[in-house]
Amino acid sequence: MCVPQAPADGILKLSVLSRADSHPAKVDLGVGAYRDNDGNPWVLPVVHEAERRLHSDPNFNHEYLGVGGLPALTSGAQKLIFGKDSPAQGRVYSMQTISGTGANMVAAVFLKQFKEPSDACVYISKPTWGNHRSIFETAGHKVLEYRYCNYETLKLDIDGMLDDMRAAPMGQIFVLHACAHNPTGIDPTEEQWREIAKVMKERGHFPFFDCAYQGFATGDVDSDAYAIRLFVAEGFELLVAQSFAKNMGLYGERTGCLHAVCQSPSVLPQVSSQLNRLSRATISTASAYGAKIAGTVLEDPELYGEWLMSMHDMSKRILAMRWLLKNKLVKLGTPGNWDHVTEQIGMFSFTGLTKKQVEALRTEYHMYMTDDGRISVAGLNTHNVDYVAESIDAVIRT
Ligand code: PMP
Repeated sequence: MCVPQAPADGILKLSVLSRADSHPAKVDLGVGAYRDNDGNPWVLPVVHEAERRLHSDPNFNHEYLGVGGLPALTSGAQKLIFGKDSPAQGRVYSMQTISGTGANMVAAVFLKQFKEPSDACVYISKPTWGNHRSIFETAGHKVLEYRYCNYETLKLDIDGMLDDMRAAPMGQIFVLHACAHNPTGIDPTEEQWREIAKVMKERGHFPFFDCAYQGFATGDVDSDAYAIRLFVAEGFELLVAQSFAKNMGLYGERTGCLHAVCQSPSVLPQVSSQLNRLSRATISTASAYGAKIAGTVLEDPELYGEWLMSMHDMSKRILAMRWLLKNKLVKLGTPGNWDHVTEQIGMFSFTGLTKKQVEALRTEYHMYMTDDGRISVAGLNTHNVDYVAESIDAVIRT
């Protein structure tokens, strides 16, 4: 067997570099994980409470979950994404997956096997989460890009995006970020989503929504599901990958779902049987612990309400950091316009810093961010934001 070296994953490489750096001023803005104002991971109070309840249940065990995953999770997750009175009710199959990545992968293999036309390509935004290309190519798709970010204004290139959707052959697969686009933090407005839906309908394109940050864009889970619910209301068949990594802080527990919205309830048995088959072939059964935590939170009205408040708190802290960073850069007179820092939403900000500046920040200032200049705003806090702004200012001026 002759096995060539696989390309290194940018984010994972960055984590290794950051972990190896013990400088006291180090700032890790690479990893897309929430941190509190002291830079520590945060276990949500509702997660603690759900764990306490699980462990005090005499029937708690570590048995396998059934096919499709834990019903408390999948039904709660379905309501969270589509809303309580969704027109899709009765024609959605929701299956537990290995977090958002697993949902992407099952969807990619499912689409490869059943897409129509069979030669349809997968279009990802330029730029997108680094793993999208890898996942869809690994599943055997041809992957192309559609324009998304105007790299000069750091705003949505809506005209380019719509033109690329119009120019693509009929019936292609489009990967759309439901909210809080990674890496840019730039989302379409509601009006722009309606235009996107219109063009996609005209062209018969298939929407695949990746929803890894529900609750992080606006702090409100319903507003963050706007695009998905719009497409459902417009009658699309679609797939949604949903992750509880960020919004419930269950990163390592690998808790997520894949939802398949079908045209009619009559095809649900076939669709669910195929998705179950793929799940069985890859993971056999889904992981139980995170699902039990998330299921407990989603099922209990009191915990659910507290969870919404925690999400609101996380998104509020991130927003406050955006303002602190921008205000400091403006105060320093750092060359450039920094409005995008507060205009972008979600966990990330696409700063516009060049690869060379990113490198200088890493080697001279112990500041870690991806080569494309994306920072995880959650890594900022009141203790490091001045240092971050001053370092950015210094590298831009050299
Ligand atoms: N999709 C997007 C756009 C993401 O940013 C992420 C997390 N970085 C994921 C999916 C998957 O995350 P996880 O597998 O941890 O749920």
